[in-house]
Amino acid sequence: MTLSFSYQGSPARIVFGNGASADVGKWVEALNCRRALVLSTPHQAADAQALSARLGSLSVGTFTDATMHTPVEVTERAVSRAAEVGADCVVSLGGGSTTGLGKAMAYRTDIQQIVVPTTYAGSEVTPILGQTENGVKTTVRSPKITPEVVIYDPELTLGLPVDMSITSGLNAIAHAAEGLYAPDRNPITSMMAIDGMRALKEALPVIIESPRDSSAREKALYGAWLCGTVLGQISMSLHHKICHTLGGSFDTPHAETHSIMLPHTIGFNASAVPELMKPISDIFGGGTPGQALYDFAKSIGSPKALRDFGLSEADLDRAAEIANSNPYANPRPIDHGSIRALLQDAWSGRRPPY
Ligand code: NAD
Repeated sequence: MTLSFSYQGSPARIVFGNGASADVGKWVEALNCRRALVLSTPHQAADAQALSARLGSLSVGTFTDATMHTPVEVTERAVSRAAEVGADCVVSLGGGSTTGLGKAMAYRTDIQQIVVPTTYAGSEVTPILGQTENGVKTTVRSPKITPEVVIYDPELTLGLPVDMSITSGLNAIAHAAEGLYAPDRNPITSMMAIDGMRALKEALPVIIESPRDSSAREKALYGAWLCGTVLGQISMSLHHKICHTLGGSFDTPHAETHSIMLPHTIGFNASAVPELMKPISDIFGGGTPGQALYDFAKSIGSPKALRDFGLSEADLDRAAEIANSNPYANPRPIDHGSIRALLQDAWSGRRPPY
């Protein structure tokens, strides 16, 4: 075997464990901060207020308007609020939307971030920020965007609704699956990808039966950390490009889109790199990688068809065009016809042929 690679670990501090979120104040102080602004979506405002109250004099209050796709208008309001109250760090409590707001603030002001994730999206361990302005979603990468501290507390995920647990878990699996063939992959990211997918494969079927099973929740969050780390360290290809196109141009929901597309994009690419994708068949129950993922997703009750999310058949032509417009590294050559065909399968919910 010949090995040749470059590896850059993340500078972020990762803290993992049941009850770990009780130590947020300790981590605020460890960053030499004294004035934390707690962020959340409106849905998790009560949790953010409770966390702010627990922080006591280390908190300067909450900002609870985080929104999916990180609208610039919301970020600007949050930056103003942080300045008004003299915040020296943010504590982002929630899923990718809340993490996105903290990252957008850090991108503009370099404010330090502590993230307490409550979904499996993985954004907390990436230097990537997606934001929207006037209906256009753009993505930027910068070391300033990577949160300084991530506190994974599985107890906070016990109440994550089952449908969100399924799609968010498949969203995480997508990061790892594409990581296996990334041109800049390395032995560490491949190990993390395989272990992360295995953890989620074992945990999700337990969670759908017993949503408050603490060891399954712990395993799923551990898997999500690994899969998110893969996303943050190497490049993504066809799958993430198509999901970005569908979410950005057609407003399809983030985690559901990933869940539906995953078997189709991975199956399509696996036929070009079967050896690299063999772990997927091994982990998800045999057959081709695309079919193994499809069968697994179906068995845990994932949504299967894009047509259930407001996309018309006519939209597929434009989606194929957009997804095919900017070149990027992909293990299998793509053209309009092949993308259009896999979108058709995903639209109708058909089991992929590969
Ligand atoms: P989300 O953050 O939008 O959460 C969806 C809803 O669920 C929100 O109302 C939220 O408050 C609620 N919620 C979150 N955790 C909960 C819990 N434990 N219990 C009950 N309700 C809970 O969803 P998401 O899928 O985590 O994030 C999606 C966003 O993250 C998208 O905008 C996506 O683009 C972004 N994202 C970015 C990256 C990156 O690296 N930049 C990676 C993944 C996702």
